[in-house]
Amino acid sequence: MRVRQLIQARPGRHLVLVFTLTILLPGLVLAIVGVRALIQERALAAQEMRERLDRSAALAAQQLGRELQTWRTLLDAVGRTGTIDPGALPDWLRESAAEPGAAALVAAGPDGVRVWPRDALAYQPWPELTAAPRPPALPRPLAEAERVELGDKDYPRAISLYQNLFAQAAGDQRAWLLHRLARVYRKAGRANEARRTFETLAARTTDHVGALPADLVARYELSSDEAAARHANRAPARALALYRDLVGGSWPLEKTRYLYYADTARAWAAAGRPPSEEVIRLSTLDEAKRGLAEAFVLDAGVGGFVIMSRPTNGAPRAPRIALAVATRWLQAHRWPDLFAALAVDGLDVGLVASNGDVLYGEPPATTSAGVPLAASRPVQEGRLSWRVEVRPAHADAWSANLARRRTVFVTMLIAVLALMSFGTYLTLRVVRREVEIARMKSDFVSTVSHEFRSPLTAIRQLGEMLMRGRVPNEARRQEYYERITSESDRLARLVENVLDFSRMDEGRRPYALVPIDTSAWLNELAARFEAHASQNGHQLITDIPARLPELLADREALSTALDNLLDNAVKYSPAPAAVWLDANARDGGVTIRVRDRGIGIAPVDQPHIFDRFYRGTDGTAREVKGTGLGLSLVQHIVQAHGGCVTFESRSGEGTTFSVHLKGASIP
Ligand code: ADP
Repeated sequence: MRVRQLIQARPGRHLVLVFTLTILLPGLVLAIVGVRALIQERALAAQEMRERLDRSAALAAQQLGRELQTWRTLLDAVGRTGTIDPGALPDWLRESAAEPGAAALVAAGPDGVRVWPRDALAYQPWPELTAAPRPPALPRPLAEAERVELGDKDYPRAISLYQNLFAQAAGDQRAWLLHRLARVYRKAGRANEARRTFETLAARTTDHVGALPADLVARYELSSDEAAARHANRAPARALALYRDLVGGSWPLEKTRYLYYADTARAWAAAGRPPSEEVIRLSTLDEAKRGLAEAFVLDAGVGGFVIMSRPTNGAPRAPRIALAVATRWLQAHRWPDLFAALAVDGLDVGLVASNGDVLYGEPPATTSAGVPLAASRPVQEGRLSWRVEVRPAHADAWSANLARRRTVFVTMLIAVLALMSFGTYLTLRVVRREVEIARMKSDFVSTVSHEFRSPLTAIRQLGEMLMRGRVPNEARRQEYYERITSESDRLARLVENVLDFSRMDEGRRPYALVPIDTSAWLNELAARFEAHASQNGHQLITDIPARLPELLADREALSTALDNLLDNAVKYSPAPAAVWLDANARDGGVTIRVRDRGIGIAPVDQPHIFDRFYRGTDGTAREVKGTGLGLSLVQHIVQAHGGCVTFESRSGEGTTFSVHLKGASIP
């Protein structure tokens, strides 16, 4: 009860209070909580990502550490046994042998250099470990022959001396003598003999001339002759074959010798013409093998190779064992296998050497919207000091996903707020309407009481005067009787209206529809009303055709409706005034119009006049007594008859209400 009173007393202020407490505040709290949740979710997602990256980086470092450990174990095993057992090598290393220049394992000590794969390197690294002993001083007869050749330049004698010595010599000495002999033949201008002798020497593949393989020396000389006497249209076959065998690793040479022979042979093989396909192919192979050999010489992870060597005890001639693998080969074959699990997880792995060289993956760590999207871990093994870096393969997708989630969240928040606002709007409307009805009801109660009071007072006063015999003449008495009757009528109508309305409101008003003679009914109604109107100085002007279509109607109810319209016409027209009642047959039905030239209905009121309890806001209309029920009753009754009520009105000019009813013959 108190709340209602409050609402009725100051609806505006309390509504604002209620609205603030129930909608605005929760809405605000919801928005703040939403935004906080959004920020938290973002931080959480970033944290999750960081943790995941950290875990993955640790895992990657562990895997890499384990891998390098197997390399180390391999080197140690070779160091212990002094041999390279291909069967004991890991699969990936054996597979790398298919690609020349990809990887090599070298074990070198005083007793020689072992290289796996055998022909992997262009030249032998670390010559200082295996320096061939200097050839012993020449025996006297050989030195004598050499002196005749080089000092006396007596070539025929030198030839015969060399030939004699050759007959008694064996092994490397024979090779040495053949070489000298061929040389002197050449100096003596006996080119054919020189060539034949070199050819003989070239066949002695196991002998040496000094520190050099005999066949290499001989083939070099033959190729040199071939190059000097170059035939324009004959391919330099000897030089090409020599280059092929050099690249193929036929002679384990140390660096400077290899470079000298290989470069010269290649120059001869390619000279004077566009290099043949084979020369190009051999050059490429040559370069790859030189690169790999150079990696061992430099013993550092430069030039595209990763080198791991077994620690030595520091002595200059201590045996050395090292493994070199091309970084591009590792990039293509080894690292992807090693980090496959992380790649499946949508992560990219990067590998950076301590000098900043990128060994695998993309180097720099990326950040997305302030979130560092990479985690890294150091990996140390011997002299190798690397960093693994792990980052999401699709950082953009990750941040896009985050942004998408944010958008969805914000949209939802906005939608909820919009819904709340809409709900608020609806609630306000309903509340306003309810407040309005409450106000109208309370107006109604006071008006109805007032309405009741005045006819009752009049009846009581008149009755009292009559009863006490204070009315002097018969004419006056007659007039009082009539007034008592009309006031009672008014009272009855009022009571009828209120009762009708409440019955109607509860849906209990039954209508007994029977055919009625429209013209007769209207004339009767007009006559009754005129008697009442004329008392107040009003005049009713009727225009009712004699033969109107019959209506199917509840006569009493329809009379109440028209009485109300006529009553209003009179009420809202300053006396004395005329009101009009006319009727027309239309489309088999009847249109009954009630017209006045009264105060009219203000435009603001027009949409509401049929509402229950609604009373005009116009000052003049307010002065007139009424309940605000009349027109809603009229509309209800007419609609129950299948008809409709319309009106036209202008402020200050008057109003016309039209009741359109269907004829009895119309289904
Ligand atoms: P009331 O008891 O106030 O007359 P009604 O439902 O009959 O209630 O009418 C509603 C309102 O419509 C009135 O308060 C008045 O402002 C307006 N109204 C109705 N009929 C007329 C009319 N003939 N002329 C001017 N205003 C009218």
